[in-house]
Amino acid sequence: MTPAQDVAAILARLGVEASVAASVSAGSAPPGAIVSHSPIDGLPIGSVAYSGIEGVAAAIALASTAAAAWRNVPPPLRGELVRRFGMKLRAAKDDLGRLVTLENGKILQEGLGEVQEMIDICDFAVGLSRQLHGLTIASERPGHRMMETWHPLGVVGVISAFNFPVAVWAWNAALAWVCGNAVVWKPSENTPLTALACQRLFEAACEGFDAAPSALSTVLQGDASVGQTLAADPRVALVSATGSTRMGRAVAPVVAVRFGRVLLELGGNNAMVVAPSADLDLALRAIVFSAVGTAGQRCTTLRRLIVHESIVDRLLPRLRALWPTLAVGDPREPGTLVGPLIDAAAGEAMQRALDAAAAEGGIVLGGEPRLRDTHPHAGYRAPALVEMPAQTDIVQQETFAPILYVLRYRTLDEAIALNNAVAQGLASSIFTTDLREAERFLSAAGSDCGIANVNIGPSGAEIGGAFGGEKETGGGRESGSDAWKAYMRRATNTINYSDALPLAQGIRFDVG
Ligand code: NAD
Repeated sequence: MTPAQDVAAILARLGVEASVAASVSAGSAPPGAIVSHSPIDGLPIGSVAYSGIEGVAAAIALASTAAAAWRNVPPPLRGELVRRFGMKLRAAKDDLGRLVTLENGKILQEGLGEVQEMIDICDFAVGLSRQLHGLTIASERPGHRMMETWHPLGVVGVISAFNFPVAVWAWNAALAWVCGNAVVWKPSENTPLTALACQRLFEAACEGFDAAPSALSTVLQGDASVGQTLAADPRVALVSATGSTRMGRAVAPVVAVRFGRVLLELGGNNAMVVAPSADLDLALRAIVFSAVGTAGQRCTTLRRLIVHESIVDRLLPRLRALWPTLAVGDPREPGTLVGPLIDAAAGEAMQRALDAAAAEGGIVLGGEPRLRDTHPHAGYRAPALVEMPAQTDIVQQETFAPILYVLRYRTLDEAIALNNAVAQGLASSIFTTDLREAERFLSAAGSDCGIANVNIGPSGAEIGGAFGGEKETGGGRESGSDAWKAYMRRATNTINYSDALPLAQGIRFDVG
């Protein structure tokens, strides 16, 4: 089945307007429409109407009205709507997971995993809907009590990247909804169809749920200009933006100038340290999944392998033998481990990075184009393994492709310094069975990343922990732990139940 046929069948089952897919099979997307291409063959699979910059203001106005009603709904009842959405996702998991694969190119196992992540965050948010609690604080004044209460923000704008086309929105949306907000979503222009499918499933969850106002969820289809307009609007209390550091640099000042809030989840350049005591069998499996999973297009993808010089001759030959055997192909096929890059241009960017690495002294294995005969418009590439003499310029950049740079180290201090010597600060890990090394890596003087792991790779986070990174990764935290606080505003309340009016700090201010 061609990707276009596959997509048409899924959209029909999910109840998304037939015109979305039909316009493509008829070869007639309406003028100005956003056409979605499948990375599997590089050909069109559907088109959606461009929301336009004019559409942004109208969507925010409707979302503001929805937020004003939704904030008065008790949080556990808000959680009930998210529970219903989670049930819709469970029922549609196979279809939505396959649609992710068709529109994004990640292998089916990972497409399904992404939908599971949505289900998991819904479950988390349902529990959270009964735990949005603040502190009770001892007052210095007699007959007084202090407390914190948490209130909804209003409208939350979500800008998301192509590589996690549905999970990142769900991380934000599920928390934002239980916290009492309305959500306006600007998905990647590369993945508009999965966004439509999510919106349809959410609408289905709202059917018959009287407490849900309309426009609790809105999708704006468009490019960077639509994202910028959303970010600039003062009615959007929080802009949660996931994507490249370049995008974060453009969005953050626009929101800051109006004193709005941002939650930034930007690029990563993640490392793994393999120490002399490491279990190499375990390390090998972790290296492969985190370096080539999602064809190297995860923000947490392993890009820099920092290996102790005493074991490099045991580890590197195994990687060299394994790399050419990793199955590249149609991500719908069960045997495939590495699907296509998002498009042919991403394949060319990978080639430029490999050329730069070779010019900087790297020894390159793999990275060549694949399936060009059968899929001339797609961006299939063999994963690349590159031994580098040092952490040169190209190694310090995030190339969104399956390139693993291998570096050597002598002392743990040197390894930690290499780990931290890049501008990004998302994910990191160490493989060691030495407790002292593990604890030093996790200590204040260790990894400077938002995620630091021991004996697992840097990618594949669970929703229970707060997710995000430091430095050019943006500093935001999403998903589990207390990340919900980003979606609410805090009020400090002081209550006087005495018949006097003492002032704080013992100030005397006698009147009359
Ligand atoms: P991208 O920056 O090109 O686009 C991301 C989103 O931002 C899209 O919706 C795009 O339309 C929008 N956008 C781009 N420029 C904008 C602007 N000036 N103003 C407003 N919106 C704008 O990123 P991409 O290629 O879709 O995704 C890959 C990048 O995302 C990688 O750098 C990856 O590391 C990062 N990412 C980070 C995380 C994280 O949690 N840290 C998660 C996923 C992806």
